[in-house]
Amino acid sequence: MTHTRTTRLERGRSALGPALELVHTGRAPTRAVLTSELGVTRATAGAVAAELEALGLITVDSRPTASAGSQGRPSHRLFLDENGPVVLAAQIHADGYRTALVGLGGRIVATESGCDTIPADPAHVLAEVVASGAGMLERTGRRCLGAALAIPSAVAEPDGEALNPLHLAWPTGAPVRRLFRRALADARIPGVTAGIGFTGNDVNLAALAEHRHGAGRGARDLLCVASGHRGVGGALVLDGRLHSGSSGLALEVGHLTVNPEGAPCHCGSRGCLDVEADPLAFLGAARRAPGPEGSLLRQATDLLREEYDDPSVRAAADLLIDRLGLGIAGLVNILNPDRIILGGLHRELLGADPERLRAVVADRSLWGRSGGVPILPCSLDHNSLVGAAELAWQPVLDDPLVVLEEGAASG
Ligand SMILES: [Zn+2]
Repeated sequence: MTHTRTTRLERGRSALGPALELVHTGRAPTRAVLTSELGVTRATAGAVAAELEALGLITVDSRPTASAGSQGRPSHRLFLDENGPVVLAAQIHADGYRTALVGLGGRIVATESGCDTIPADPAHVLAEVVASGAGMLERTGRRCLGAALAIPSAVAEPDGEALNPLHLAWPTGAPVRRLFRRALADARIPGVTAGIGFTGNDVNLAALAEHRHGAGRGARDLLCVASGHRGVGGALVLDGRLHSGSSGLALEVGHLTVNPEGAPCHCGSRGCLDVEADPLAFLGAARRAPGPEGSLLRQATDLLREEYDDPSVRAAADLLIDRLGLGIAGLVNILNPDRIILGGLHRELLGADPERLRAVVADRSLWGRSGGVPILPCSLDHNSLVGAAELAWQPVLDDPLVVLEEGAASG
């Protein structure tokens, strides 16, 4: 079957991946748009759409919509197949983990979270994460094409070691990608083989997801800064690709100094963004001790939203906004982004007083003053998870026919 289909598709095969990516990212809502985006004939676009439908990845509205398209002609609408395959995505953070089954389009089909403290042995939690994913797959009956993991650490390439899992008890340099692949292999999930199991830094993946599906769509030089549960991370998406540096370690923005006399940082310096602008720093500035209930991010977010009228909370928010703004201003000077998106606690701080943050960035940066770089909140729920899913989907986006091969491999 694979052979027949491959032969039939030879001419259109190279357009399949680009076509799927256009539908996946919402840029080709109709066959007419697909035709013009791909720069092919209507017949070729029709054949490509039909093939993606046959693969179970998209659906093509059988009747052209009455509303005229740009060429004044009704066109067939394209949708991602809601019952199509999924990938397993997982995110480890300082307060536990979250797993999800994610379809094309960044759609979360099922999700669950687990454990309060991440064990010091990464293999232990990765086995738990994979078991959670396997359980969801069994309950939903979905076909799984791949798996990927987001972690709160720089991930060294090409082997995928966690170089600085500072907020987890994991050993420095833990071979996380290898351990994740082993856990997947041990779980014997149909379709998910030991050959897959991508791992990336959580903020990098959040930025990738926002670029494809959220607040970063259409940006050319997208800077993302975020504080999730602990610490601060950054990422840069250039022309649609993550800029990860020569060995995966670029954009360690958490160790920019924003307060020279500030708190000691685990990196050995003082006053880094990491310890001056994360949820723990916010709770400390507001003179609140972290409670036992809920993650630090949840506690900080609740405090900011519910008690912003309290002068001590307001003052803490102002202080963190000023430090964050100083850090972002430095990044604006160096990177000259055309859009900045903020995630986690930083999204909440932006929401609390957008003018203050924009003013600090404009005031402190060379390029900020001239026109102002748009600073927007991240718009996706669980963007690191969705970004991990993007890694797992990438082989399918590169060549959708791998769907047939995976199907054959899993019987
Ligand atoms: Zn530091």
